[in-house]
Amino acid sequence: MCIYRPACTPSSTSAWCSAPSSCDGMRRSAAGGRAIAELDRLAGLGVRVIKLHPNTQKFDVAGPSVARIVARTAELGLVVLFDAFSPWDADESGKFLMLAIQHPKARMILAHLGGPRFHECAMFGLVRRYSWYPRNLWFDLSAVAAFYVDSPYREQLVWVIRAIGTDRILFGSDWPADPPERAVAAVRSLGLNPAEQAQILHSNAMSLLGACR
Ligand SMILES: [Zn+2]
Repeated sequence: MCIYRPACTPSSTSAWCSAPSSCDGMRRSAAGGRAIAELDRLAGLGVRVIKLHPNTQKFDVAGPSVARIVARTAELGLVVLFDAFSPWDADESGKFLMLAIQHPKARMILAHLGGPRFHECAMFGLVRRYSWYPRNLWFDLSAVAAFYVDSPYREQLVWVIRAIGTDRILFGSDWPADPPERAVAAVRSLGLNPAEQAQILHSNAMSLLGACR
């Protein structure tokens, strides 16, 4: 679940960044201060996605510096990938929802679909009924698909995925914990139909991030 991330390692999402040094910027962004200038620098380099990790970077998703960073990424067209499972913040899902509502032009990916709290992500399926929810959150299946695919919770996970909308679900590997091959096999074994799999494994990411430059 990337609760502990000892070093900045490549991930499935980093493939969408055209600047390999962007991980340093991501780490600094969480601290505030020079974060806005760093975002501008990264956008200028052609970076498409920055990653923020509340657990390892030790910040509260509801903090004002996070709001400032998200606001600037919206202006720059950057996507923010958050690690979105915290064992220590039971309110984190609600904080992400508030961030999404307060920054409707921001585009954010919540990694792990809540992890062991995936059932709470049904909330994002519920709120899509309301016009005040801008549907600017995407969710990746890193770790969670591989963990639950052979469990009694598999059907529940698929129900939550469909409640949110398969157009908002992305593939994620959680490498090196799960190699991409295992992660792809897990997604293919969840019981989703071929059209849903195509969305999750390809077209949703293309729509959100665009083709590599
Ligand atoms: Zn993680």
